[in-house]
Amino acid sequence: MSTHPSEMPVVGKSFYTECKKCGTDRYFTVLALPTPTSAKIKCEVCGAQRTWKTASSKKATSSTAPRGAAAKARANAEAARATAHSAEYENLSQSLTSATENPYNMKTSFAKGTKLKHPKFGLGFIRTVQPDKIEVVFQDEVRTLVHNRR
Ligand SMILES: [Zn+2]
Repeated sequence: MSTHPSEMPVVGKSFYTECKKCGTDRYFTVLALPTPTSAKIKCEVCGAQRTWKTASSKKATSSTAPRGAAAKARANAEAARATAHSAEYENLSQSLTSATENPYNMKTSFAKGTKLKHPKFGLGFIRTVQPDKIEVVFQDEVRTLVHNRR
C-alpha cells in the first residue's frame, strides 16, 4: 500500500489506486470530492465506482487513533517531567556549588540539602529526609536511598 499516493486525488485527473473489482491497482477517473478527505472515483478499466479516503481520515476513524494520542500525551508528559527534573537538579547544583561532597553511606545520617557523592549514581542533592530514607535528586532521576541504618 505504500506505493499508493497519500495525497488527495484531483477532479479531472487520473488517480492510481486499488480496484477491488479488478483485483489490482488501476487508474481511476476522479469524479468528485464529497468531503476534504474522500473522493468519488471510477475505475478506468471496469468502470466500477467507489469512494476513496485519505490515510489520515482512515486513521481518525480507526481504534488506533486514541491510543496514538494517549501515547503522544504520555511522551509529552514524560518530556515535561524530564525538563522539570533537570531544572531542579541544576538549581540544587548551583545553590550547593560550594557545599562539601559527602560520600554516600547507608549508616550515615544525612540532612536535607546535603550534597551527596554516590559511587554509582554520581552527584546528588538530598531533597527530603525521613528517619530511615532520603530522597536524592541525581542528574538522571530522583532516587530513594536508605540512611541512618545502624
Ligand atoms: Zn476496475
